[in-house]
Amino acid sequence: MTTTVEKRWLKHYPEEIPTSIQYPERSLQSFLKEAAEQVPDKKAIHFLGKELSYQELYTLSKKFANQLQGIGVKKGDRVAIMLANTPQSVICYYGALMAGAIVVQTNPLYVEREIEHQMNDSGAKVIVCLDLVYPRVAKVRNKTNLEHVIVTGIKDYLPFPKNLIYPFIQKKNTGITVNITYDAKTLNFAEFLKAGSEKELDIKVSPKEDLALLQYTGGTTGVAKGVMLTHHNLVTNTTQCLHWMYKMEKGEGRVLAALPFFHVYGMTVIMNVSIMYQSKMIVVPKFEPKDVLKTIDKQKVTIFPGAPTMYVALINHPEIKNYDLSSIEACLSGAAPLPLEVQQSFEKLTGGKLVEGYGLTETSPVAISTPIWGKRKEGSIGVPWPDTEAAVLSAETGEFCEPGEVGEIIIRGPQVMKGYWNRPEATAATFKDDWFLTGDMGYMDEDGYFYIVDRKKDMIIAGGFNIYPREIEEVLYEHDKIQEAVVIGVPDPYRGETVKAFVVLKEGTSLTEEELNKYCRENLAAYKVPKLYEFRNELPKTLIGKILRRVLVDEEKAKYADK
Ligand code: AMP
Repeated sequence: MTTTVEKRWLKHYPEEIPTSIQYPERSLQSFLKEAAEQVPDKKAIHFLGKELSYQELYTLSKKFANQLQGIGVKKGDRVAIMLANTPQSVICYYGALMAGAIVVQTNPLYVEREIEHQMNDSGAKVIVCLDLVYPRVAKVRNKTNLEHVIVTGIKDYLPFPKNLIYPFIQKKNTGITVNITYDAKTLNFAEFLKAGSEKELDIKVSPKEDLALLQYTGGTTGVAKGVMLTHHNLVTNTTQCLHWMYKMEKGEGRVLAALPFFHVYGMTVIMNVSIMYQSKMIVVPKFEPKDVLKTIDKQKVTIFPGAPTMYVALINHPEIKNYDLSSIEACLSGAAPLPLEVQQSFEKLTGGKLVEGYGLTETSPVAISTPIWGKRKEGSIGVPWPDTEAAVLSAETGEFCEPGEVGEIIIRGPQVMKGYWNRPEATAATFKDDWFLTGDMGYMDEDGYFYIVDRKKDMIIAGGFNIYPREIEEVLYEHDKIQEAVVIGVPDPYRGETVKAFVVLKEGTSLTEEELNKYCRENLAAYKVPKLYEFRNELPKTLIGKILRRVLVDEEKAKYADK
């Protein structure tokens, strides 16, 4: 395969955007230390009306690091974080890195089966989780290598909260009672932190070699795999983001943290950006449109990275006119296609720029985006970021496609992952020479702008969540009345796509939609549970018996097009 690419997009870079950047060869945590030294009193985090300074955040992270070391965490050990966006998620992330650990981000919506897989696959030794999800973790911990579970409440973050011990937690709004017995292996986060030393740990990091993060993604096979991201991958993508997107001076900027930190997108373009640039992060535990509008207005948010559904929800909010959103300067929308009308109407309402980014967990995540500085072309995801190359590979010839020809988008750059954790074969299959194969089909135009046409893999993106049909199909196949099942994404005006399951029952059995839905709810995180079910007598198949998923997808698309 030819390996040199004609970088047509560079012709369009304006002078002030570097085509190549010098990336600091440093650990991620060194940026927090730098901020604490340079601007100790500056506020790093705003959360539900309270604030933490850079000095406080650094001290708390050091305490956490020391305590992790105290319970036996060594360099390269995996520490899982299963939290909603809270100051604790930042403290635990940086603290774990300071202890030399590799962070394993875990979605708090995961059910037992998913938690068990992720803990066993990563070999995590410790998990920090919210009290509300603790019962799920407690159920599986004995089937994993977890040595310690550290539990925290949402508001449990201040240096030393008044109420330290929560043996029985009655959640006011949910009515859920969580019964936690703290013992040597189950620790209360606040107590754990309080007892920590503030000394600085001397753990050497080789940024290009050492992993900072194992970020789980379904990849092409549907089995969740740990993407290995080094400190350098993440420092690089954060630096690229700052050069490309956020034309602010160090120390400026108020960044809204509404995207979850447990996804690499929120982690890089919010958490790492904010700390590297000594900005203030306005942390919201959950995206509620009205609260977000209020927060932007009150906190004078300047940067708001999000997903298309978030911007759709805001621009359609009946009370949007009551809020002043003029502080917004730059937003990056990612994870799914951003409709042009949404971009234009959001920019009109705020006066700020809304840019679309494209990437994958494997690219830390951003590789390509629409230019904040120049021409946006309808339907295009934009051009590659500095030091990043993209090309289109033809499935037929194995060579690069001509402009306008559709093939698989491939990427090369310093933000591309090291590989999949413990999966050399999957790693080898996803690289061709040193190009990363994205699994997305698309093309490049004459100007070097890229376009996504379809996903090669069958992943469904519903409301910004990535859903892998095979995983849901596996759960359906485990049901004793189900003979065959196939899951696809169908168009949905609000969520982009929604999950639909086609099911063939075993002969002589019966099952209602409600029963099936209940079963799915028990076995899958809520966002993966199909919203639509269809019972059929048979499914379309190829001659060798492979289910023709594409036929069902096309049937559904035609149905929606007719509406
Ligand atoms: P993840 O690894 O969870 O970040 O998911 C990556 C996938 O999300 C990509 O392979 C794309 O299919 C999809 N994706 C990300 N950004 C965009 C975008 N701007 N437009 C269309 N699809 C996108």
